[in-house]
Amino acid sequence: MKCILCLALALCMLLTAAAFADQEAEKQLEKEIGAFEITAEQREKAKANEAGYPVLDAGRGNPNWINAQARYAFIRLMEYAIGESERTLNEGGMAGQAKIEGIGERFDAAMDPENPTDAFLMAAVDLCVNTLGLDKDGLLKELADAVIGDYYPVPSRCLPNTEAILNAFLQATLYDGADLAGRTGVFPTEGGSAAMVYIFEALSHNRLLKPGDQIAIATPIFTPYMQIPSVKDYGLVSIDVSSTAENNWDIAEEEIAKLEDPGVKAFFLVNPSNPASRALSKNTLARLAQAVEKNPDLIILTDDVYGTFAEEFQSVYAALPFNTILVYSFSKLYGVTGWRIGLIAMHDQNVCDRLLRGLPETDKNYLRDEYAIVTADPDSMPFLDRVVADSRSIGLYHTSGLSTPSQVFMDLLALSHLVYAARGEEDPYIRLANDTVHARYAALMDALGLEKDESEANAQYYTLVDVYALVEAEYGRELLQWLQTEKTEIDFLNDLAGRKGVVLMYGPGFSAPDGTVRISLANLNAEDYREIARRLFELLDEYCEEAGIGLADAA
Ligand SMILES: *Cc1c(COP(=O)(O)O)cnc(C)c1O
Repeated sequence: MKCILCLALALCMLLTAAAFADQEAEKQLEKEIGAFEITAEQREKAKANEAGYPVLDAGRGNPNWINAQARYAFIRLMEYAIGESERTLNEGGMAGQAKIEGIGERFDAAMDPENPTDAFLMAAVDLCVNTLGLDKDGLLKELADAVIGDYYPVPSRCLPNTEAILNAFLQATLYDGADLAGRTGVFPTEGGSAAMVYIFEALSHNRLLKPGDQIAIATPIFTPYMQIPSVKDYGLVSIDVSSTAENNWDIAEEEIAKLEDPGVKAFFLVNPSNPASRALSKNTLARLAQAVEKNPDLIILTDDVYGTFAEEFQSVYAALPFNTILVYSFSKLYGVTGWRIGLIAMHDQNVCDRLLRGLPETDKNYLRDEYAIVTADPDSMPFLDRVVADSRSIGLYHTSGLSTPSQVFMDLLALSHLVYAARGEEDPYIRLANDTVHARYAALMDALGLEKDESEANAQYYTLVDVYALVEAEYGRELLQWLQTEKTEIDFLNDLAGRKGVVLMYGPGFSAPDGTVRISLANLNAEDYREIARRLFELLDEYCEEAGIGLADAA
């Protein structure tokens, strides 16, 4: 009898354990599917929401503003450049190619200082010549050809004047005083996304990262980035270097310490982070430098797309130029996601080149053969140039590089900032972009009754809201327990979408803690964020009713 009871009990426990394991597995799967796929489902539900509310989608990171000035300048420059081409041939819709002789003087004559777009172009060219030391005719010939796009990008990695302009921009916005412009190589790419793909491909192909190698990832992070190391044949083992709300989403000392292990080959971060929107503090940068002293071959890969949204920002690249590969994208600040423009920047003295020199002879021989088809001296081909070659499977190296009109557009965006920076003035466009997201953040947090983090390291482009903590604070433990037992987090997000027309993103999909949601401050207006808070509380009130908890009983 006892035995049977025991057996039944054991069976029960086993079944419960199995159910629990099932639940865990399901949770894991949910996370792996990724926040973006989950959100796609909610977008559908929101369209037909029960309340019949207009949809408020705070899932998207795409900004709802654009930079107009650089776009006006682009078409003006295009028009000017076509005029230059027509000077050599102009017949039946066919024009020739721009000539360098006298191009600078003709530019001055063509521009009208009373026209704001012309005045900007004149100031931009003036800055390139007088501050960056570029040759005026050479610059204008490069710009004219590039905007028209009548030559392959030469050199394929980056047009020479573009490289100088982009270097000045990176230095002005991301380095916080470090002087690296003259020693930094730039490779413009089809957005930050292509930059990441190219870097991982080249690190793997060049055997700097091998299957089984450990790569540390600063979490929470943009979901697709979590997935890169494990896909394809990279076979990388990722470990988390996590930041938490308790530490204001900065990376704690003991987490950074994980990087001291020479078994950790690379460290991959978004700074300021996505979804937490937090920039690394100066202390953490200093701690990171100490870790690199213990692990000098560490390759750091930093995505600084949100750098200009934090105040007093300093890139990890500026603190550790030898070890760091910098990725920047114009997508968010300038509202140019459809252009696909970003870049990779690396110091001319860097850990990747040192690691290449130290590879075993067998690897070196293999790589010599690989690159011999595009260079006479494969051994001394810098890593950054290998990234360019690998972006076109080496064989098509001679036709690699970003489209030249896209490079010109990057120049103009960069120059829209540099004309202010060179005069020591604040850039009104960057100020406005920051003030815009800050006002939305304040509207949201106030309406939710949450404390704002106004510190300069908070980029406020996204925010993570802990729904569980909010429910406990506003409604009490009972509703929190009901929510945690009756609803999964996906159920909650589905309800918010299906009943109230609000789309938020699933925090754990970014490796953020359970109960968190990511709210983008990029794509709705301040009053919309107040309305999101109102609808969220409306749903929670309904939950109280369903749970049989009187609103008056709720805290
Ligand atoms: C939006 C975003 C980018 C921009 O990518 P693009 O391909 O340049 O549009 C890069 N990194 C992160 C973390 C982002 O959130």
